[in-house]
Amino acid sequence: MKSLELKEAMPEKQQQRIYLDHSATTPTDSQVVEVMLPYLTGRYGNASSIHSFGQEAKVALEEARRQVSRVIWAEPAEIVFTASGTESDNWALKGAATAFGGRKRHLVTSSAEHQAVLFAAQHLEKGGMDVTYLPVDRAGLVTPNAVANAIREDTFLVSVMHVNNEVGTINPISEIGVICRQNSVLFHTDAVQSFGRIPLNMKEMHIDLLSISGHKIYGPKGVGALFMRQGLQLEKLLHGGKHERDRRAGTENVPGAVGLGMASQICMERMDTDREHLSQLRHRLFTAIAASIRGVHLNSHETECHPGILNLAFDGVEGDALMLSLDLKGIAVSNGSACTSGTVEPSHVLKSMGLRRELTNSALRFSLGRQNTADEIDYVADALVEVVARLRRLRRK
Ligand SMILES: *Cc1c(COP(=O)(O)O)cnc(C)c1O
Repeated sequence: MKSLELKEAMPEKQQQRIYLDHSATTPTDSQVVEVMLPYLTGRYGNASSIHSFGQEAKVALEEARRQVSRVIWAEPAEIVFTASGTESDNWALKGAATAFGGRKRHLVTSSAEHQAVLFAAQHLEKGGMDVTYLPVDRAGLVTPNAVANAIREDTFLVSVMHVNNEVGTINPISEIGVICRQNSVLFHTDAVQSFGRIPLNMKEMHIDLLSISGHKIYGPKGVGALFMRQGLQLEKLLHGGKHERDRRAGTENVPGAVGLGMASQICMERMDTDREHLSQLRHRLFTAIAASIRGVHLNSHETECHPGILNLAFDGVEGDALMLSLDLKGIAVSNGSACTSGTVEPSHVLKSMGLRRELTNSALRFSLGRQNTADEIDYVADALVEVVARLRRLRRK
């Protein structure tokens, strides 16, 4: 029924489509697709095979590992390929939980984490672990002090994300790492949104585990990686063959890894260009909106923020209605709510930031990408002015 309505509302001619949802996923870079293709066709060997077909795949896999490691100043051996950012997060938490033979039973994380961390933590709680969910401030920030106060004798892991995927807030993970090191506690960070965008240095930062995902950095879906500091022994998540130096079982996803490797390299080469481009567009979008729409609230941190993420709340408008109206104009953004089993739940991130219920329901996330242009941003700002005014009029009737 819904799709029919959408179709009818579509104008006759092919309308312009604008993608501002890069925190959900990114388009795959054409250079990435190009390097993957041979491994989906002629070079199909199993990287664990001894013969030439296998060795060809193995060489590609190791080159990809090197490409990923270079972005964060890690050793190639410290990178383990996984099937997603979700798997990396789950592995870090569950693996660390069992690494101490049940002697340490306390986990520290934050209430604004991605579901892959939050629900893994809840799963551990069901198994008898104790979890502290640190509060965040009005902008979604976790303070190093709160981490220091939460750590106990039996804390086995602190897991605090680097960049929040809903609001873009950048957590002070260098400081948190130092605190963890001083207290001899392992530190994991979900860097899915920051890897390749914000400099990270595993030689200098006290990070033991770091999650990466391919499709958030213009790479393929279904591939990720976990940085695991040398010497660290994590309990396995997947059991089977001795793949990935006997750390993760399962035939290696060679095309995926090759794609992630190339995407990583491109991100590293373009880090400054991308940051400059995104922050200019973000500034352009925010100033245009703030200048022409009343009752707009900035949910993202003013300074400590991912250059391409802008989360705003609009007084007197439902976020879903806003999102759907923009979709009809060919504009893809995300609302602040996570749609779970048909019911729209207010975003746990905005809730944890202490936003009033009406505001959590009226939030929109704009997440910009490499291919967005200033013209697109102007079109979106104009469309938003029109849509917000219309929805507010409807509401007053
Ligand atoms: C997308 C995302 C994930 C999950 O990664 P997948 O590869 O999609 O499983 C985890 N954490 C954050 C912050 C994300 O944005």
